[in-house]
Amino acid sequence: MALQTVSTRPSITDERARLTEAEFSALLDAAVDGIVIMDADGQIEGFNASAERLFGFSPEEVMGRSVNLLMSDPGPSEDEGSLVSYLRTRQPDLVGNSRELVARRRDGTTFPVELAVGEVRAQVPRFVGIIRDISERKAIERRLTQREEELRLTIENAPIPIATVGLDGVVLSANPSFCKMLGYAQREIGRMSFRDFTYPDDLPLTVTLMEEALRGEGDTYSYQKRYVHKDGRVVHVVLHNGVVRDEQGRPVMIVVQVEDLTERMQAEEEAREHRERLAHVDRLNVMGEMAASIAHEINQPLSAIANYTNAAFRRVSAGRLDGEKLSASLTKIDEQAQRAGEVVRRLRNLVKKRESQRELLDVNDLVRESLRLAEVDARIHDVVVEVSLTESPSCVLADPVQIEQVILNLLRNAIDAMGMVPKEESRLMVRTDASENFVEVSVCDRGTGITKLDEQHLFEPFFTTKVAGMGMGLSISHSIISAHGGRFWFTRNPERGVTFRFSLPKATESLV
Ligand code: ADP
Repeated sequence: MALQTVSTRPSITDERARLTEAEFSALLDAAVDGIVIMDADGQIEGFNASAERLFGFSPEEVMGRSVNLLMSDPGPSEDEGSLVSYLRTRQPDLVGNSRELVARRRDGTTFPVELAVGEVRAQVPRFVGIIRDISERKAIERRLTQREEELRLTIENAPIPIATVGLDGVVLSANPSFCKMLGYAQREIGRMSFRDFTYPDDLPLTVTLMEEALRGEGDTYSYQKRYVHKDGRVVHVVLHNGVVRDEQGRPVMIVVQVEDLTERMQAEEEAREHRERLAHVDRLNVMGEMAASIAHEINQPLSAIANYTNAAFRRVSAGRLDGEKLSASLTKIDEQAQRAGEVVRRLRNLVKKRESQRELLDVNDLVRESLRLAEVDARIHDVVVEVSLTESPSCVLADPVQIEQVILNLLRNAIDAMGMVPKEESRLMVRTDASENFVEVSVCDRGTGITKLDEQHLFEPFFTTKVAGMGMGLSISHSIISAHGGRFWFTRNPERGVTFRFSLPKATESLV
């Protein structure tokens, strides 16, 4: 569509002597942007093909009419959309600069445009408005803003602590979870460096890993470290860091996502304390069951002491002061007192409520010690105990009291299981075996065995088939062995009874 001018007004081509009208029209119609030519009052004098397409008006419909026809209703601010008022005031920022306005089509719908106005300096001044439809750009901008907002909200509301850190270590941003984790307000943390809240001992590792990542040795890295809360508390965390680079590949900042281990560690600590408490209760229970044998164990040396003392007393009363014999009696009394003292010491160890303490131990020694405690119990119940201990190295890093407790439990259960078995068949076999990485202890009995039904509940706390049982032994033993990195299980014997076994990881050579 050629540019049409209103005949009553001076022709544009008159003014622009260097272009013929045909050339001028062709130029305007070739323009991709909408072009509207208007006089100083904003009356339309020219309307190119792109303007026609943009606004849906034909040139005849707009010629001589106010350019405000093409603009959306002026907003609360008079300037908004009112091109005529711009022209009237001749705002210098309008001419020669582009502005964003809201335009209106013939059908009343509106769309965003970018408007640049050029002034034709002639006797009768005119203005050329170049109008570009920016709907698409605006939509993209809106989408981007929306995305940014979504991302901001996601990070702000993320339950995971997230922060960004500059190359100098200063915190660039931190979400509320991050601030809460360390007890600082957002504005406080914004002025801090990660060095200010990293636990001092963990600073060298933090810096080394950061430097390696910035050098390009892996853009993401995770590690466990400690922070210090504003109130001085240590906060255990796992960090998942990622280096953000610019288009040239230069590092810009580090995004830090934090896994706060505090709750997990507290739960583990509580579980450990709970296990220790139960283990203590269970030890008392085993001791209770073994009360008769314990009494016997202590009674024996005490009777011996009484006998030796009586004999010595009789000698002294009869005036037979044989120094050598007296000294022999005193030595025996001393030995028996030591033996009783030893039993009491062992019992006290087992009954004492204590924290788990790992030591380097020979599993064979632990089995021997447990057998000493269970020996009398077995004798009282007419159970023969066979022992076969491995000659291979069998050192483990373990808590002696807990492992003895596990072995004692197994021995007690085996003795109980053979309660109804004929005397001559009541025998149990205790073995230790060492493989390359594990030491295994097994207790094999010829007792009643375990039914398929009971098997499902065997390791559950409080499962018992005994009248006076507590049902804690196996579940506690299982958890003690698991906490030591070992395995606890049982198998049915081909003939009769069951074999309970547990394995413990062998102590590494550096420890031995
Ligand atoms: P408690 O001895 O107080 O019952 P445990 O947890 O030590 O608690 O054992 C749970 C149950 O497992 C026992 O009541 C018994 O039914 C079964 N059990 C354990 N060891 C044996 C065994 N050697 N032979 C047969 N049954 C066993």
